[in-house]
Amino acid sequence: MVAMDNLITGSQDNIAHLAGNPDFEFIYHDVSNFIHVAGPVDAVLHFASPASPIDYLKYPIQTLKVGALGTHNALGLARSKGARFLLASTSEVYGDPLVHPQRETYAGNVDPVGPRGVYDEAKRYAEALVMAYHRQHGMETRIVRIFNTYGPRMRLDDGRVVPNFIGQAIRGEPLTIYGDGSQTRSFQYIDDLIEGVVRLLRSEYVDPVNIGTTREISMLEFARIVNKVATNDAGAVYADGSRIEGDPQTRKPDTALARRVLNWQPQIELEDGLDRTIRYFRAALSQPA
Ligand code: UDP
Repeated sequence: MVAMDNLITGSQDNIAHLAGNPDFEFIYHDVSNFIHVAGPVDAVLHFASPASPIDYLKYPIQTLKVGALGTHNALGLARSKGARFLLASTSEVYGDPLVHPQRETYAGNVDPVGPRGVYDEAKRYAEALVMAYHRQHGMETRIVRIFNTYGPRMRLDDGRVVPNFIGQAIRGEPLTIYGDGSQTRSFQYIDDLIEGVVRLLRSEYVDPVNIGTTREISMLEFARIVNKVATNDAGAVYADGSRIEGDPQTRKPDTALARRVLNWQPQIELEDGLDRTIRYFRAALSQPA
């Protein structure tokens, strides 16, 4: 197995446990540039991209490039090796959705020039490119639309709501709610996502498939749950109203397709997944930097 990353938002610490594994190799590389891999390749899984709103606002051009050029290079690699290809797409292709819950056939409500446009349009272009390679070259391609996912090894400062809330809860601070807190998300644990991705890669299904949980909660409710699991009694505060521009008001996947074609559904309850994630962050924070 070969992993490639230019580490602009990732960390090599996350693969430290694989060092010394003879079946694993890490190559420091930006896949927006030509990709070279020696030897045979069975499958190319293209997950490279900033994914936190704060990160893709910080790296808007890299985000567009990795969705466009990075996807093109990754498809070219897969084609030259006769490998199967899987694109990590996103619920952001639905934008601020006018249809609820979001089914794969919904074409979305995206503002190309809004603050999230760099990510949303890059992923929409990436999906179009994958389907073009499938149709034009008969390539074996798969597209997973990933909804909000959390778990150990997220960056504590990546700016997304799960690390923000958990960091604040561990420090005994009030959790920061953006906007009025009525906006909703559905949070799945990382292990459930990975199971869905592996099943999709092995399946024969070509059109995009949503992978996410259908337990939809408001950010106010989510703050209550995080405080309860982390036993933080500092409550929550309304903060940073300026960050709310372009923030989708609702998000919840329709996962009937994943159930039907992959026989997949999430197994891990939010409270259990949060408990595991909080343990990880507590341990990470207690290590010397
Ligand atoms: N959010 C919040 N407090 C925070 C960070 C995020 O209330 O400290 C809200 C944010 O406005 C959004 C939701 O949490 O409505 C999820 O945000 P995130 O950045 O995790 O990703 P998104 O789902 O928007 O891509």
